Amino acid sequence: MDMYNVKSLKAEEFICHEEILDTLEYAEKNKHNIKLIDEILDKAKPVKNEKGTFCAGLTHREASVLLACDIPEKVEEMYKLAEEIKLAFYGNRIVIFAPLYLSNYCVNGCVYCPYHYKNKHICRKKLTQEEIEKEVIALQDMGHKRLAIEAGEDPVNNPIEYILESIKTIYAVKHKNGAIRRVNVNIAATTVENYKKLKEAGIGTYILFQETYHKDSYLKLHPTGPKHDYAYHTEAMDRAMQGGIDDVGLGVLFGLELYKYEFAGLLMHAEHLESVHGVGPHTISVPRIKHADDIDPDVFDNGISDDIFAKICALIRISVPYTGMIISTRESPEVREKVLRLGVSQVSGGSRTSVGGYAEQERPHDTEQFDVSDQRTLDEVVGWLVEKGYIPSFCTACYREGRTGDRFMSLCKSGQIQNCCHPNALMTLKEYLEDYAQPGTKKIGEYLIANELEKIPNPKVKETAKNYIENIHEGKRDFRF
Ligand code: SAM
Repeated sequence: MDMYNVKSLKAEEFICHEEILDTLEYAEKNKHNIKLIDEILDKAKPVKNEKGTFCAGLTHREASVLLACDIPEKVEEMYKLAEEIKLAFYGNRIVIFAPLYLSNYCVNGCVYCPYHYKNKHICRKKLTQEEIEKEVIALQDMGHKRLAIEAGEDPVNNPIEYILESIKTIYAVKHKNGAIRRVNVNIAATTVENYKKLKEAGIGTYILFQETYHKDSYLKLHPTGPKHDYAYHTEAMDRAMQGGIDDVGLGVLFGLELYKYEFAGLLMHAEHLESVHGVGPHTISVPRIKHADDIDPDVFDNGISDDIFAKICALIRISVPYTGMIISTRESPEVREKVLRLGVSQVSGGSRTSVGGYAEQERPHDTEQFDVSDQRTLDEVVGWLVEKGYIPSFCTACYREGRTGDRFMSLCKSGQIQNCCHPNALMTLKEYLEDYAQPGTKKIGEYLIANELEKIPNPKVKETAKNYIENIHEGKRDFRF
């Protein structure tokens, strides 16, 4: 039996199976314990003092009690609290990005992913540097400034040198007023040496989904290939942080295992990173398994309803208030709208999940990783967000100003977000409206910017932001606080 130890660097000790089972038992026992539930909700509430707004967050045990609780009034309180925290730290800004698939060659046998090596009829494709340039031009012409690059694991076809060269190519493309200013990377677990190289290449967040925290299921779901090694995969974020990457993104592929187990594991992972490295995950993604080439999501029996999905999002927001939450186009516009309110801070838009998909006129399906539910264009997503009162943000300022890891978290807590992230979001939206928006989107976007500028608390910052916005209108680009 493994002993739970949040500070251990051994996967089976910081994600301890017995501790998760005890947590689930404790949560089940206390799911109607109103006194305890109220105490937990109270602990999670934002507290304001002269230095800013603070949230204590919740431990995996406390959060699991809330997840188990099915008393409608209490669930309603959870949702309200999630909205309150979301507003305190993220305001109405929603960061926008797109995935860029570099290669679907893969040597792993992941049973839920169509890129598994046994799939002989899916088209295999790896972009050349010229093809990457074309993809990036197409993405810049849509208005994107942030990408998440994706690749299968294949040491021969997709070695680290290929990934590094691709990152260089992406940053170098400057088409019209376009630029990719932040490249996040979602590639398989690798060595400290390789994480150092990714850091040197100027990546934003290193993203790696755990898929499932349940070791036995993990081994069955990843029967062959390097990804079969549960400990190597689970300890990847520690190696990434050792390699100097301080923004890491966690995620669970919901549907593979029981959601209560995954939720506890995810929070234990966050607690571990905070405890060992002094900074928790920068983001958490919440993908749900989808239909794909030879993958039928119904064969996995742990699918979750939209209501449970929303509750998980709300509880992640309450439990790790300073961690951004990402939702992809795997989800429909309706589901996305619901969880935006409850805590999601980043969405992808206009995504294509095929290798080389952006340079094609029609959405190709032959190399797709999964079916996209939200098929709207980026402009439609931007227009939709504005209509709902959100500020679509293409901001990349924090990482370019060196505000990563705990320095970003300090900004979050300091109350200076309204004087920093808020104007940055407005300026990047202005760039989008000037360069890429359809007339309808431009009209409502300009109106939103004019209103939101007035909400900047510091008069000097407000004045400067107004000047910058005017400068953007006159053709200058890339201002930031
Ligand atoms: N190969 C890398 C790895 O092993 O982490 C890169 C990640 S892969 C391109 C991106 C993510 O897509 C995976 O981590 C997995 O969670 C998700 N994914 C795979 N198959 C999926 C499916 N059928 N539906 C939804 N998401 C899927």
